[in-house]
Amino acid sequence: MIAATQNKGKLKELRQITEKYGQELISMAEAGLGDLEIEENGETFAENSYIKAHTVSALTGRPCIADDSGLCVDCLDGAPGIHSARYSGVHGDDAANRRKLLDDLEGVPEERRTAHFTCCITLCWPNGKTLVAEGICPGRIAFEERGEGGFGYDKIFIPEGRDESFAQLGVEVKNEIGHRARALARLEELLDGEI
Ligand code: IMP
Repeated sequence: MIAATQNKGKLKELRQITEKYGQELISMAEAGLGDLEIEENGETFAENSYIKAHTVSALTGRPCIADDSGLCVDCLDGAPGIHSARYSGVHGDDAANRRKLLDDLEGVPEERRTAHFTCCITLCWPNGKTLVAEGICPGRIAFEERGEGGFGYDKIFIPEGRDESFAQLGVEVKNEIGHRARALARLEELLDGEI
């Protein structure tokens, strides 16, 4: 199986699941596709994860797994959504993306700062068979950055039922209640009996 991601952290998390099924999961680089750029022009997380998984599966003739994720803020009609990585205009500038989101929410009271992270994982086989697993983590946007570490919007996202941001809570909590962990758990359920 191939993981259609250039992100080592995601590859590691995905491997923990595929190993249980005795499947070796290799990176794009290991599959000889290190330079492949895939245009993510879908309109949903599910479409974008499908585009990545399907493209690599069709190119290689092997099963392929891909994910797409982002943050959706209710009072902004779901923005930044699928544009989470480039919300400020520069792809991958996490600090600028957080700043823009806090600016957009200036003056918005706590009860209207509700949001959720979504993660969608798609697994495509070369014969066209496809599994889609989604995970959601509800919460709210903080008034300012809190904590160190994490990535993306972790410093300004407070999961439901907590008072600290993802950055303060750390990766162990994220691995329990986070959107990616939930999508991975769902994928595991779907895979039971499939492999
Ligand atoms: P991608 O799925 O790697 O394309 O991630 C899209 C963007 O969503 C990232 O660049 C982050 O800005 C944001 N994002 C996704 N998951 C997380 C998370 O767990 N914490 C913080 N930000 C995230």
